[in-house]
Amino acid sequence: MDQKIYFYNTATRKKEEFKPIVEGKVGIYSCGPTVYWNQHVGNMYAYLFVDVLVRTLRYFGYEVKHVMNLTDVGHLTSDSDTGDDKMEKGAKREGVSVWDLAKKYEKQFFDSEELLNINRPDVVCPATEYINEQIELIQKIEKNEFTYIISDGVYFDTSKFPDYAKFANLKLDEIIDTDRDEVSKEKKNRSDFALWKFSPKNEKRQMEWKSPWGVGFPGWHIECTAMSVKHLGNHFDIHTGGIDHIPVHHTNEIAQGFGAFGHQTANFWIHNAWVMGKGGTKMSKSLGNVFTAQELVAVGVEPLAYRYLFLTTHYRKGMEFSLDNLKLIQVTFEKLKRIVEELPNDGKVDENYQNDFRKLIADDLALPEVIALVWKLIKDENIKPENKKATILDFDKVLGLKLDKREVVEIPEEIEILAKERLKTKLNKDWAESDRLRDLIKDKGYVVEDSLKSYKIRKI
Ligand SMILES: [Zn+2]
Repeated sequence: MDQKIYFYNTATRKKEEFKPIVEGKVGIYSCGPTVYWNQHVGNMYAYLFVDVLVRTLRYFGYEVKHVMNLTDVGHLTSDSDTGDDKMEKGAKREGVSVWDLAKKYEKQFFDSEELLNINRPDVVCPATEYINEQIELIQKIEKNEFTYIISDGVYFDTSKFPDYAKFANLKLDEIIDTDRDEVSKEKKNRSDFALWKFSPKNEKRQMEWKSPWGVGFPGWHIECTAMSVKHLGNHFDIHTGGIDHIPVHHTNEIAQGFGAFGHQTANFWIHNAWVMGKGGTKMSKSLGNVFTAQELVAVGVEPLAYRYLFLTTHYRKGMEFSLDNLKLIQVTFEKLKRIVEELPNDGKVDENYQNDFRKLIADDLALPEVIALVWKLIKDENIKPENKKATILDFDKVLGLKLDKREVVEIPEEIEILAKERLKTKLNKDWAESDRLRDLIKDKGYVVEDSLKSYKIRKI
């Protein structure tokens, strides 16, 4: 832990030295997905970022507790607390219960994490399992006189928190409610937000709970404050999320923290930028540029190539994504894997390269420079091949590209026999039979690569 680590903190708009509250330990809370629909690879960018962040801190020897929520209630289609609940809407769309909808998309999310080699957070908390904690937190905020009640729920009075606009540099007089209806006219300030929403009078919601204020459901922002504090205490190290969370969701979380405890809950607020389509366009189904990790597999692209693509740009810059570009990146990624695989084992980590690597990841995760460093090391003739391998595999603890995994891929006996058979036919110049066997092996999911008098088998 002798290496100084710096992260860009949105709260101060500066790169700052990171010092944990408790020496040697780090508590991180990440805003997780709303499990109402498939998470595409653009959505997964935020989780790749936090995965590398957690791996980096662990690489430096910190004991990390990583907590992430799953929003399965209360996230409305509009940021101004009107509109439908995304979960209830999704359940109607698919003709299933909200609970089954949550289960289905939770699975899709964690399957995507696995395909992208993202480690599962230490604690995963669905909002619906923490209703009591959310109610208790609202009561605390109410006791401190930051709330008021209108016809559709309990609201946070943002005028009671003098620094409300500070975090996102908001111009409060410019905030316009996108759906300015009768209910929002009851709000004292346009920036006020719901802590608890009452169930609509004429409609039975699938998800609703009793509360001291009436039957209803929690507002979206309260779950993150309630669950982060529950698992990490009311003052913890790092809170992450996408930049889209800065002006509303995280601004409101900070207000809630102030309302309940009189201070900000997190020391560092670290935000990732977005993934855009080609030429900076939005990623959308209608433009055909949206893919889930599972869909990448279906079109023959390895999801880890997407992870490699993520590593080639800085998390605060975001990146452009297109399938064509990803296919090109996959070629480079495959090349890297093959080179590492062919390097001999049992080397030692090169200290100079390791020092450069440590400096780069400690500098607000300078990952594109790390990728350049990997290629520099590969070309460096002064480093022994076995030491190159040991060094790259050391870096891979953070990069997570599974560069050490290829050597353990077991080739089934059936494939070995077919490949031997094929080599024989090839040496006998029986080209037709040799091609037939190669295709057969390919159909079974393996590729035979020829060298002069031998061959190599790898999994597709
Ligand atoms: Zn959140």
